[in-house]
Amino acid sequence: MNGITRRLPVASVVLALALAASGLTERVTQAQAQITSPEKFFGFQMGADRKLVRWDKAVEYYKLLEKESGGKLKVVNMGPTEMGNPFLLVIITSPANQARLEQLRQMNLKLSDPRGVPEAEIKRIVAEGKVVICQTMSMHASEVGGVNMAPELTYDLISRTDAETQRILDNVVYLEIPSFNPDGAIMIHDYYMKYVGTEYEGGSLPWLYNKYIGHDNNRDALTMNMKDSQYVGKLMFVDWKPQAYVDHHHMGTYGARIFVPPYAEPIRPLADPQVWREMQWYGGHIAYKEEEAGLSGVLNTGQYSGWGHFGFHWITPFHNIAGMLTESASVRVATPIFIDPSQLAGGDRGLETYKEQMNFPDPWPGGWWTLRGVVERQKVSAWATLDLAARNKDTVLWNAYLKASRQTERGAKGKPAAYAISANQHDPLTLNKLVNALLAQGIEVMQSARGFATPDGMTYPAGSFYVTLAQPKMGLIRYLLGETHYPDNEHTREPDGTPIRPYDMGQDVLAEYMGIRVDPLNEAVKSDFAKVAAQILTAGKVAAKAPFGYAIDGRLNDSFRTVNLLWDKGVAVRRVDSAADGLRPGDWLVPAGVEAVITDVAKRTGVDFAALKADVKQGAHEAKRLRIGMYQRYRGGNMDEGWTRWLFEQWGFPFTQVYDAEILKGSLNAKYDVFIFADDSTSTITGEPGGGGRGEGRGGMAFASVPNTTPPEYRSGIGAEGVNAIKDFVQKGGTLVTLGGATDFAITRLGLPVRNVVAGLSTKEFFVPGSTLRVNIDNTNPLAYGMPSEGLVLFHYSPAFDVVATDFNDRNTIIVRYADRDVERSGWLNGEKYIAGKTAMASIGFGQGKVVLIGFRTQNRAQTHGTYKFLFNALVSPPAR
Ligand SMILES: [Zn+2]
Repeated sequence: MNGITRRLPVASVVLALALAASGLTERVTQAQAQITSPEKFFGFQMGADRKLVRWDKAVEYYKLLEKESGGKLKVVNMGPTEMGNPFLLVIITSPANQARLEQLRQMNLKLSDPRGVPEAEIKRIVAEGKVVICQTMSMHASEVGGVNMAPELTYDLISRTDAETQRILDNVVYLEIPSFNPDGAIMIHDYYMKYVGTEYEGGSLPWLYNKYIGHDNNRDALTMNMKDSQYVGKLMFVDWKPQAYVDHHHMGTYGARIFVPPYAEPIRPLADPQVWREMQWYGGHIAYKEEEAGLSGVLNTGQYSGWGHFGFHWITPFHNIAGMLTESASVRVATPIFIDPSQLAGGDRGLETYKEQMNFPDPWPGGWWTLRGVVERQKVSAWATLDLAARNKDTVLWNAYLKASRQTERGAKGKPAAYAISANQHDPLTLNKLVNALLAQGIEVMQSARGFATPDGMTYPAGSFYVTLAQPKMGLIRYLLGETHYPDNEHTREPDGTPIRPYDMGQDVLAEYMGIRVDPLNEAVKSDFAKVAAQILTAGKVAAKAPFGYAIDGRLNDSFRTVNLLWDKGVAVRRVDSAADGLRPGDWLVPAGVEAVITDVAKRTGVDFAALKADVKQGAHEAKRLRIGMYQRYRGGNMDEGWTRWLFEQWGFPFTQVYDAEILKGSLNAKYDVFIFADDSTSTITGEPGGGGRGEGRGGMAFASVPNTTPPEYRSGIGAEGVNAIKDFVQKGGTLVTLGGATDFAITRLGLPVRNVVAGLSTKEFFVPGSTLRVNIDNTNPLAYGMPSEGLVLFHYSPAFDVVATDFNDRNTIIVRYADRDVERSGWLNGEKYIAGKTAMASIGFGQGKVVLIGFRTQNRAQTHGTYKFLFNALVSPPAR
């Protein structure tokens, strides 16, 4: 305690001295006459205790600054968020640069893809161009520092008149996203303010902090399903391609005060090496400036590994952008927290014990930790990034050119040299979606109108795609399209051999997630390829004459969207159960006489309606829409549930969100045919002690809150009574669908004859972080209709099953099994023998109903298109038994 009271004033004195020495205090106060300060506008200092900026007020403030800035600041409303709030881009640079912004953007695009640009022109661009820096705030809305720091940073940039500021404005085009999650910023503000001054002050939001996906919004950089992601993705990957990007976050409370670049081990290979050096360079300058400002507790080269998920700040290095993050120690939203020095602890990568070391020379001593402490450190880091770029403009721009051209050269020389993607796929409409996802990343994709052949004799039909690695984003292409194996080495295992959990997945092979076959080519192909210039949207064809009605290919994921649209219009649809006359199990049959409806549906979905050759009288059943209920809980919300909800909306499945109260009322069969539990832990579903939702991995925020800061109405869990209601539902004929970890709930609480064969194994024995695994599929089973007989599934610390022998084995069906050998396709599979040949998905009879167990991540983050049908099939009526 004494230690704290003695040392804190010292830190304040140092800060005052540093500010006085640099003359900042005078200069800062000088310029405030014409421009409204955040304090004046919001009525409090940014980061003040128990005060938060509300997003609608922030929007007003940036618009006011635009008027007052004298041409230094431009506000762009990029569009509405998922909940209809404005998503802003704030562009800050000198008035002269603002006047020729489009020209600067075009010049910058040439540096980031210099193919075909003469070196003389590059040199001219380096001399005349400007560095482009992008920074995004509070993507994770509960990490409120960014949204509350940005008004002050923005104000400083346009109001300060010193040489340092002028240099930034002259040399940098700063693209600021003042909130990367406006919906969440509003939710967090309103929830916090509602409970401020009560016993629940500073507690966690009981639901997801945006409409669908909560914390997973960072993981959405891979496919950009959400509007917020689409805005930032287009800005960074297509329109501007900045030289550096910083994403401002919060982390746990009891370690370093702020983590700044660079990352720790392991590195993710295949980026240009210069991009990692740039992170050391920016990070070094940031840390240096933090010390200059007297701000302690700065850690770099620790905690966050270079190989993370492909979220925005970790995917950007493969766009040749120095993609960085800061992570500040959390407070309780805007409520200060007192930390005794003895509670400060290391224990993570690069900071084993909390003491002075090379990457952490100035430990914070403990005491009261406040949001203002976060805002100050974040602001210095954001400023220092702009400052370094401004001081080294020509170097940064030249190196942008070097990074892009060297990656292109590496791609040209390396193996594979390119990827070929045949138009002939199990689900060609999903292939279009893969190509569209590549285009959204700013990757160049070529298409062949007539087809092409490779030097070693492989042929590809008309419409096939070709992706050369001789382009700047070659590293990204390798990860999205090519087999990837997570490193198994001294950086990824403890000295005793225990695997260290990767930050997220062990791979990010989008093609494998989507069930699209991609062939690596060792030699480049020359053909009359044309660049795919825009997102592919195809219209389906409707056969001209179809007296017997139409068939829809059940292998297409979009056939489900099609059928849902038909059902919306009251069209009856049948489903094929046995192969005949070119029809496969899972194909859909549509009657003649509804041409007006299907013409429109074909146009919207891209699905073809083929003419039936004859009346199909046998081997098909009338398919009906099932009534879907999905469990919705509090405790921070369930991201997997949110993704599933979004997916259902996109694919046209009507459903109801069901909270505890409705389950406890019982009689679920009266309203639902299918009931879904998204990936979750059993204790979280039931509300037993120990349930805190699924883990977030390293750096996640965790508070042990005693007393409980969650108001009683949000302490969810269905309890024993709810378990009985679910049991009753299945016994009376309902279908219970459980995904991922929620399979454990069904197995243990309903007492199913199923064993999770990997439960209880140590990570040394069995460890599978986000890997694609080979499976065999019984596609004659209605739950696997439309699937190939062999495929890939995403296994992410998932369960795998043995169906235990009973007297009623006929009631249980194994639908998907892991391959007998060579199970891993991509990622990391440690302990193959434990799952080889084991059950991945099964249907277990229970009373008059059944429980569908899908252990793998069938609809993970709305990315695993290749396995959607396992879930979708469970949502439509099966043939009568
Ligand atoms: Zn975060």
